[in-house]
Amino acid sequence: MLRTTFISDLHGQYQRLKLPGGDLLLCCGDILSSSKSQKQTVQQISDFCQWLNNQSYSVKIFVAGNHDLIFEAEKDAVKTIVSQYSQIYYLLFEHVELNINGIPLKIFGGPYYQYYYSQVKQCFKLTEEKRIEILNKIDPDTDIIITHGPPKGFCDISNQGNSCGCQNLVGKIIEIKPRLCAFGHIHEAGGIQANDQTWFINASIMEVGFHTDYVNVQTTQITRNWVIEPNLLE
Ligand SMILES: [Zn+2]
Repeated sequence: MLRTTFISDLHGQYQRLKLPGGDLLLCCGDILSSSKSQKQTVQQISDFCQWLNNQSYSVKIFVAGNHDLIFEAEKDAVKTIVSQYSQIYYLLFEHVELNINGIPLKIFGGPYYQYYYSQVKQCFKLTEEKRIEILNKIDPDTDIIITHGPPKGFCDISNQGNSCGCQNLVGKIIEIKPRLCAFGHIHEAGGIQANDQTWFINASIMEVGFHTDYVNVQTTQITRNWVIEPNLLE
């Protein structure tokens, strides 16, 4: 059994989380605050990793999101910081193979999302061609896929009623049937869905309608973190 907690779209507010502890902690990006008035710094990456390291989980895995500009600008610094922590894995379109509590898991992760134009500066923007190239790198025996954005049709409906997920991603998931896909990005679509083979978890912790440019993040309520029953990963 694996006690797993999923979190996403922390937007600098991770200090406010009270996580239950367990075996595996997965974080699906948009980690740092992205307010226009304050530039992200390498120190913030260090602070986050230190916080992550203090959480009571055997393994912690994370990817970046479209607002984590410093993770794209300072790729080497991120690697150096993460390498100081033996329990933390940062995935940039790559696999990691782990054995947690006797359960072997192959995990693929990266800051993957379907890009839509917005006035807000975004990072890790990928053309469809590049996204397909990334999806083709995913091993067919992968157990868990961590992305920033949702696959189309699963926990991806925006406030405006649009299905914002990636069609290519859902195609890949249906093809290789991982046990679990975790993502965030569309805050208002937080929740859990499943098809016959795969659990889909939109792990966004923020309230519906939250947007870093329009809402004071300090006062935004953190409504949830997703703790999955152990039998999902038996
Ligand atoms: Zn996002």
